[in-house]
Amino acid sequence: MNCSQCGRVFAYRGKSICSKCIEKMEKDFVIVRRYLEKHTGAGIREIEENTGVNEQTVMQFMREGRLTAEGISNVLKCDICGSSIKEGRYCEKCLYDISCKLQSVMPVPEVSNVQQNTRNARGTMYSKKS
Ligand SMILES: [Zn+2]
Ligand SMILES: [Zn+2]
Repeated sequence: MNCSQCGRVFAYRGKSICSKCIEKMEKDFVIVRRYLEKHTGAGIREIEENTGVNEQTVMQFMREGRLTAEGISNVLKCDICGSSIKEGRYCEKCLYDISCKLQSVMPVPEVSNVQQNTRNARGTMYSKKS
């Protein structure tokens, strides 16, 4: 079987790449992981530029679930409770809490003001007519 990385013929042992490439990937993985420890939030391009580990290899680590556990998925944290999130500033739970608070606090005085204003406007209108 030919190695999918370097094309070298090797004895197939459940993986599509040869032992030399596996060894190299392991080294690359350590390099990327160390880089991510110091540069939390680094994108794949940045990793590639600064470590020399190519994008495909980094993607492979992510697909295997090794980098998501080590760095990339833990990069973002909720501003409120600190739990890890995939995007934005808050986790779903805190976003829900925020929207609930906004709904209960914000619109109530606005609505009552508007109602009072319309009542006052109508009142003055009526008083002018009569
Ligand atoms: Zn190989
Ligand atoms: Zn949260």
